[in-house]
Amino acid sequence: MSSLAPDHLVVFGRPGSGKSSLAERLAADHGYVLVRTGEMLREAVRRGDALGKRVEADLARGLLVADSVIADLLLAHLGAPDEHKLLFDGFPRTIEQVPILDRLERRLKFRIGCYLEIALDRSVAESRMTGRRVCPTCGATYHIRSQPPKTEEVCDRDGTKLERRKDDRPDVVALRQEVYQRQTDPILGYYRTHTPGRVRVVNGDQPFEAVYAEILQVLSGGPLTGR
Ligand code: AMP
Repeated sequence: MSSLAPDHLVVFGRPGSGKSSLAERLAADHGYVLVRTGEMLREAVRRGDALGKRVEADLARGLLVADSVIADLLLAHLGAPDEHKLLFDGFPRTIEQVPILDRLERRLKFRIGCYLEIALDRSVAESRMTGRRVCPTCGATYHIRSQPPKTEEVCDRDGTKLERRKDDRPDVVALRQEVYQRQTDPILGYYRTHTPGRVRVVNGDQPFEAVYAEILQVLSGGPLTGR
């Protein structure tokens, strides 16, 4: 495992950009602690607790959960990073969540060193998403065209029948793309203005390994510093 500058990152990318898989790989190879609001919310839904019940319908419909819920969720889950490097995936998601991140940075004493965008056209992202399948048992992900299981619709690892995530249905996918454009795109504009030099863009319309290589290059190349 090697370390890259900068310390703490936020990764942006429209749904279907490969953002979460890339973040996972970055975490595994370079010691980042993943902070994923989407996964925290899905876990709450699986547990069926009060929070899960409150957010279930929004998740299934591809709508964003209230900013106050996200603030509470992060405060409950996140401790001071100390020597850990944080990698935020899926947060901030609205311009109103930008000050929530500011407050977390002040309270837990860290600084985001880079806002990284995985750039991809909407039409490419949509076809990637509607073909995605997941294993409800082990969480493995597949794609019916680019990464199919050995047997159609069955998990290679444990033989479970694969499912389409509710939010990967075509109607929901279209809505999620619109939500991203309307709510999340402006955040990058904000950071470009307010933290010049800390926004980096990579081309997401390439094979996974090529995107990953470009990310490593971007993160190790520039005059970026953490904390
Ligand atoms: P993701 O796995 O990041 O695509 O998130 C899945 C779903 O969780 C989204 O479609 C939203 O409904 C919800 N969600 C995740 N993160 C946030 C956030 N920061 N703010 C609001 N809703 C979120």
